[in-house]
Amino acid sequence: MTHRRVDRGNGIQVDSEEPLADLDLGIIAPWDGRRVPVTLLGGYLGAGKTTVINEVLARTDQPIAVLVNDVGAVNVDASLVRRRHGDTIELTDGCVCCSLAGGLAEAFDGLREREAPPDHVIVELSGIADPARVVPWASSPGFSLDGVVVLVDADQFPERCNDPVTADYVAAQLRAADLFVLTKLDLASSGDAAKSRSILRDCAPGIPILNSDDAVSTASFVDLATRRPGGVADTGPANLFDVHEVATVAVPRPITQAEFEAMIDALPPATLRAKGIAATPDGARLLAQVVGRRRSVTVLPDAESQPATDLVVITPRLYPAAPASVPAAPSSNPTLSQTRRRATRNSNNVLS
Ligand SMILES: [Zn+2]
Repeated sequence: MTHRRVDRGNGIQVDSEEPLADLDLGIIAPWDGRRVPVTLLGGYLGAGKTTVINEVLARTDQPIAVLVNDVGAVNVDASLVRRRHGDTIELTDGCVCCSLAGGLAEAFDGLREREAPPDHVIVELSGIADPARVVPWASSPGFSLDGVVVLVDADQFPERCNDPVTADYVAAQLRAADLFVLTKLDLASSGDAAKSRSILRDCAPGIPILNSDDAVSTASFVDLATRRPGGVADTGPANLFDVHEVATVAVPRPITQAEFEAMIDALPPATLRAKGIAATPDGARLLAQVVGRRRSVTVLPDAESQPATDLVVITPRLYPAAPASVPAAPSSNPTLSQTRRRATRNSNNVLS
C-alpha cells in the first residue's frame, strides 16, 4: 500500500486556537465540532472526474482537500491533479471501498489532525469503487456527507451497462448516486446520449441528471458546497447559468425546523442543488442541503454558526435560452420565480 500526503499549495486561515491535544484522538470530533462537507465523486474510468476536480481547484482559492483513489500502481489521476494544486492525498494500489479502506481511514485521520479544517473534501473514487461503502467515512467525526455525485460518460455508458466485466461496478454506482452528471455529450452520438438518459431513468428513477459537457459548469456545481467568505449562498460563475436556473428564495425569519423541512421537501424533484441557512425562533441555525435526491435539514453546531441566508436553488433549465427577440419561456415553477436569473446566450446543451 502506498499512502502519501502531499503538502497543500494554498493557504489555510487558522480560525481556532483550540489546543491540538484534543484533536489527535481520531474518534473525537475535531475543530470544535465543525464539520467539513465531503463530496464523493464516482464514475467509471474516463468519465471526466479528474477534469472536473482540476476545474474546481483552479477556480477557488479556498482550501479544498482532494483524496484521489486509483487502483493502479501509478496514480495517474493524482499526478494530473497535483500538477496544478497541492492539497492532494493519493490513495494508490487498491480501491478505497475494499482493499484500501485502511488507507482511506488514515487519510481522514490525517485531515482531522490538521489544526485548521479544509473547506471541503472531494473524494475521487476509483472507477470500480462502490460509493456506498465509502459513505460512512464521509460522515465520520469532523465530516458530513454533502452528496454522492456520479459522472456518467454518455458515449460509453450504454456499452458499459451491457459489458459483463463492468456492469456490476456501474450498477453499484447507479444505486449509490444522489445526482448524475452526464458528461462527454460532445463525443456521444445523439442516440447514445438519449440511451444513457433512458437507462439512468429506468435503473435509478428519481435521481436528477445534470447534463454537462462542460467541466467548468460541473465544477461550479460541485464547488457550491464550499464555504466562502461571502457565505454559503455563493452561486458560482456566469457560465453555470447557461444550462441551469438559479433561484434565490427568501426564507422566513425566524422559521421552525418543521417549516424549513417542509420548504425543502416542496422543492421540485428535478432540483440539482440547494443550500441555505435559516434561523429558528430560539436562535439556532439550520442548514438545508440538497444534492440531487439527498435532502437534509440539520441543526448547525455552534462552531458552524453563520448568519441566515436565502435559499439558493439550482434546477435544470427547462427551455433552451430564448433568442433575444422572443420572450423567455414561462417558468413552470412559479414558487421559484423570485430573482430568477437567465443566461442570455444560447447554449448547445439541451436539457432532458
Ligand atoms: Zn473497492
